[in-house]
Amino acid sequence: MTALYIPDEPGMLRVGQSLAPLLSPWLETGRGSISAAPKGALVFLHGQLGAGKTTLVRGLLRAYGVQGAVRSPTYTLIEPYQIKPHGIEPKEIEPKEFRAEPASKRIFHLDLYRLADPEELDYLGWQELLGDGGLLLIEWPERGAGLLPPPDFSISIEMQPPGRSLSFCGRGDWQQVATAAARA
Ligand code: ADP
Ligand code: MG
Repeated sequence: MTALYIPDEPGMLRVGQSLAPLLSPWLETGRGSISAAPKGALVFLHGQLGAGKTTLVRGLLRAYGVQGAVRSPTYTLIEPYQIKPHGIEPKEIEPKEFRAEPASKRIFHLDLYRLADPEELDYLGWQELLGDGGLLLIEWPERGAGLLPPPDFSISIEMQPPGRSLSFCGRGDWQQVATAAARA
């Protein structure tokens, strides 16, 4: 486990951005580079309201070239994104290219805070999304307890005024993420 203190919002966006290279292999399904990579990944984002979970996701999606608004899925429960996981070159990606991307290169941002009934989660069809090689980033995974399997990655954010304290769990070089976030 790697702990990291992030003093402000720009820092949080940089952490999200620095996560992109670590999560990319999970999106590169059926490709040669990391052939052992399983299909799809489940990423849990823990932290109270206002901790910075959505901010972190925003940084990650920007790194993948998502140029439009990154809204909180508070009411929609899920927001889908089509991405191009070839590193951090957002300027080279045109919106029309997103539409041409295969279905496997998708990121789904979920916020289960307002999940009224656990069955709602099944209606979202998250199993299929994950099975297709999608990356599922889930805020308030606690609300889906008993329905969701253990995550591949888990990020916990704690309020530590003026900033936030982050801890990471899961396979991957978190130290590299921390170093990259601090350097950027
Ligand atoms: P959550 O999704 O966890 O409810 P948000 O991402 O919406 O939280 O962020 C809530 C607020 O916290 C935003 O105003 C954001 O600018 C701020 N914030 C995010 N990360 C940090 C940080 N590391 N330090 C200080 N403020 C932060
Ligand atoms: Mg949020």
